[in-house]
Amino acid sequence: MEDCNVNIKVKQIFTEYLEKNGHRKTPERFAILDKIYSIDGHFSIEQLQNSMEDSKFRVSRATIYNTLTLLLDAALVIKHSFDNSSQYEKSYNIQTHHHLICTECGKVKDFKSDDLRKNIEHIRLPRFTMTHYSLYMYGICSDCKRIKTIKRKKQKQKE
Ligand SMILES: [Zn+2]
Ligand SMILES: [Zn+2]
Repeated sequence: MEDCNVNIKVKQIFTEYLEKNGHRKTPERFAILDKIYSIDGHFSIEQLQNSMEDSKFRVSRATIYNTLTLLLDAALVIKHSFDNSSQYEKSYNIQTHHHLICTECGKVKDFKSDDLRKNIEHIRLPRFTMTHYSLYMYGICSDCKRIKTIKRKKQKQKE
């Protein structure tokens, strides 16, 4: 699906959601939705707010928070809890992917695997219908590993 089609489609879904649930269709809410669907990957509330600064709408932290709650409920956004920080991500028309989380620097990388997908989707779940899923894998990223190796070498030289 092309990007512009996705933008139209998510706007439709959000409009229907707001109407059905008796929420106001404010231009700020749609500007936030637009912004989110222009971001690739994960973002925090701070990052989203900063990126909204060039928009013609001045959106407060409260408006962003409130709109994210609605978007989560409308299944247009997913929320991740990485370590102590909450990060968000668009979810419509996005392929299932997993997350590699560095326990040293907290960096999160997306990771896709067809093998994993096939295996997981074949699992019979007892009295449960899965709608979506995501794996979190913890470890050390290559940058941190390099820094660790350098530190260890320096340590050895001192000894
Ligand atoms: Zn790292
Ligand atoms: Zn992700």
